[in-house]
Amino acid sequence: MRIFSTPKIIRYLFPKIHWRINTRERAVYLTFDDGPTPNVTEWVLDLLAEYQAMGTFFCIGERVLTHKGIYDKVLANGHSVGNHSFSHVDAWKVSHDAYVEDVKKQRQS
Ligand SMILES: [Zn+2]
Repeated sequence: MRIFSTPKIIRYLFPKIHWRINTRERAVYLTFDDGPTPNVTEWVLDLLAEYQAMGTFFCIGERVLTHKGIYDKVLANGHSVGNHSFSHVDAWKVSHDAYVEDVKKQRQS
């Protein structure tokens, strides 16, 4: 498990993005990246069900196509899903346009 907080420099560089919410409510938001992954995603789904918790799964398009049944299970269990690109290209190693195209391709899959 990794507890992650967005570095201040990133928040500074992208001021229009909503990074924080002022609230008195104490909450933890569980997110899972890079799936769906056989065995792992199903294990996470079982654990979330056991604790009656919900999560957001940021999925990779290629893996959604390969493991559609697991992806459908995520949705059937009421969890949220997000776009984590189509093929998980390294944003530091490809052009901006190539990266955006990869993200758009995920939305179409
Ligand atoms: Zn990732």
